[in-house]
Amino acid sequence: HQSMQVTGRLAPTPSGQLHLGNICAFAAAWLSARSQQGRLLLRIEDLDTTRARPAVEADQRHDLEWLGLTWDVETPRQQARDYEVVRERLSDRTYFCRCTRAQIRAGGGTYPGTCRDLGLTAGTLRFRLPPGAVAFRDRCWGERRIDPGRFGDPVLQRRDGIYSYNLAVVADDWRDRVTEVVRGADLLDFTAVQMRLWEALGAPPPTWLHAPLVVGANGCKLSKSHNGLAIAALRAAGWEPARVWQLILPWLGLAGESLADALELFQPEQMRRGPIVLVDL
Ligand code: GLU
Repeated sequence: HQSMQVTGRLAPTPSGQLHLGNICAFAAAWLSARSQQGRLLLRIEDLDTTRARPAVEADQRHDLEWLGLTWDVETPRQQARDYEVVRERLSDRTYFCRCTRAQIRAGGGTYPGTCRDLGLTAGTLRFRLPPGAVAFRDRCWGERRIDPGRFGDPVLQRRDGIYSYNLAVVADDWRDRVTEVVRGADLLDFTAVQMRLWEALGAPPPTWLHAPLVVGANGCKLSKSHNGLAIAALRAAGWEPARVWQLILPWLGLAGESLADALELFQPEQMRRGPIVLVDL
């Protein structure tokens, strides 16, 4: 039965080189879909036109292929998509906000809903969160309860017209009929916001699985300052895919020198919750 088939996705953002943390999350997505005879989609998340770079995208595709992170179908990139339909569908739950980032920061950092009832006709488009925590199950972390309100009403569309990550990822996963979202644990808290959007769309949400976050020796998320941990840099330093997998698979509770080695033993609940601290390679 086609509609029952598991559908996962790889959703790289082409704004920086893929590093070991990205690959850890993609490996979990690949292993999860493949171990259930599911499909895996590729979706280029180039929503933020100010950050997306074609040369980086080409490098990312090369990295994925080099590591054997295969996909079945590529779905339209975010820049080729139309989010109006979803925005319209949520319109009775949205409002415009004119607060600047500086004003929100000065007020403590969390947007307190200042413009909720002002009936403004332009500005940043925000989603009116219903009160309370959201309960959801993560296939590794178990039952979670997170209050999305602790970040304030989420932005759906920026003043400059760019749609937000939260709106786009829910719209895309809905349109692409994704049944399971597997990604890094840095996005665990956003799941509560996204659950609210799924609810408002009246659509059944996917299942969730968050792979361990990989951090640098300073405990911070891997970033541009960790370029030595980029896959392209490791390849240039003579690493083979087998060496990358020997490093990453244990983070997922597995062992081996390739994804194929690990496929039969993959169990989401055996993944480490991390964070994984990379001190030296
Ligand atoms: N594009 C996001 C990233 O590269 C992933 C978004 C998601 O999987 O929901 O971190």
